[in-house]
Amino acid sequence: MKKTTIIILLILLISSATSSTMAQRRKIVVDLIIRGGTVVTMDSARRVIENGAVAVKNGRIVEIGATVAIDRNYAAREIVNASGKVIIPGLINGHTHVPMTLFRGLADDLDLQEWLTKYIFPAEAKNVTEEFVRVGTRLGLAEMIRGGTTTYCDMYYFEDAIADETSKAGMRGVLGETVIDFPVADNKTNAEAMAYVERFVKKWQGNPLIVPAIAPHAPYTVSEDHLKAVRAFSDRTGAPIVTHISETRREVDDSIKAKGASPIDYLNRIGFLNNRVIAAHVVWPSEEELGLLKKLGVGIVHNPQSNMKLASGVAPVPEMLKADLPVGLGTDGAASNNDLNLWEEIDTAAKLHKLISKDPKVVNAEEAFEMATIRGARALHLEREIGSIEKGKRADLAIVDLDDLNQTPSYNIYSDLVYATKAGDVQTVIIEGRVVMRARHLLTLNEETIKADARRYRERIVRSLGAKTSPEE
Ligand SMILES: [Zn+2]
Repeated sequence: MKKTTIIILLILLISSATSSTMAQRRKIVVDLIIRGGTVVTMDSARRVIENGAVAVKNGRIVEIGATVAIDRNYAAREIVNASGKVIIPGLINGHTHVPMTLFRGLADDLDLQEWLTKYIFPAEAKNVTEEFVRVGTRLGLAEMIRGGTTTYCDMYYFEDAIADETSKAGMRGVLGETVIDFPVADNKTNAEAMAYVERFVKKWQGNPLIVPAIAPHAPYTVSEDHLKAVRAFSDRTGAPIVTHISETRREVDDSIKAKGASPIDYLNRIGFLNNRVIAAHVVWPSEEELGLLKKLGVGIVHNPQSNMKLASGVAPVPEMLKADLPVGLGTDGAASNNDLNLWEEIDTAAKLHKLISKDPKVVNAEEAFEMATIRGARALHLEREIGSIEKGKRADLAIVDLDDLNQTPSYNIYSDLVYATKAGDVQTVIIEGRVVMRARHLLTLNEETIKADARRYRERIVRSLGAKTSPEE
């Protein structure tokens, strides 16, 4: 080789090395990149990006796009490979009572009033302590994360302990401390409950994962004065109100008899409803009441499996969707479901309303999936933060395998997700930019300890109810 050729080659080599280092330098460094998957964004255009990627920094989504484009512009400390998989917004469980996982299967096949008054309230009176709540919460959190749920809305007792367990597990929650007009495990009087909520909300407001809330149980278990005080508390602090409304026909009939108004009509008359209220069930609203809920901006959470199991009725979800109401999906507590598997709720929501209305076109797959994601976020009044994969939103994502036998072959992504995907197909879960489950392995919770603790509680609960412990075979 001639000397000049060597020099030219050297110059070329050095210049290409320099330009690639410059390109490297130009890359924006982020915390995490999830790449190579099909991104189902659930944004307003319902974009689905094949071979897409999501860049995450400081718990938020900074960019979404084709993997090549993200690779060109971003470098990350942590890379999650999602090739052959689908990246979805983390699912939102809009209504549960998370520690009730410890009552799973305790009393089944009963109607709501009998179930509540003969079994659940007595079992709670004898067993619920702060430790019970912590053990049940860890069980519920593990189950939800393994199913791709990244946010849940709760109502229970010792909610401060629930918030503590939730934030330790890296899960997001709208967590409501219960207010109810009889003595319960954590508070014996309304004054005690209101003082608890005051401390609880003050402590957790501003936390990136926890939205503290106040949760009056229902209009039939909390007096008018106490409901008004709840509303005043919410107005003063901005805390959301989590409650049950219009769950059964009997509730509506009793309300008309006692107060001369349906539950929704009554709550509206006393000035309780507004756009900070999250109402579970709403099974029996009239058409005018649906209009009223929309006007006031009340969030609604549909719990199809709980409503079916307790034979509470069927909420008019097709009408809610037609009117574009903010309606999400919930599992309700594990004692009335009996799991916290949101995939089943999505599937059930898509099928139940077809059956009841005898119209297979109502609640299609995309609408059902929307209720578990962006519409569910609207129900919790958190649509600016979560529910879709969009720039600036919190990085709450689930990576779902699409390679299982039950998902093969694939024609339509929403059909796959809604009718064929199971909770066990969720591989990796990210909340606030943090990987909390990788390849089905929980990183913030210990499954074996959780199961052992829960089984110990089972023995105590059975003893407390005076029955003999039956062998577990
Ligand atoms: Zn409930």
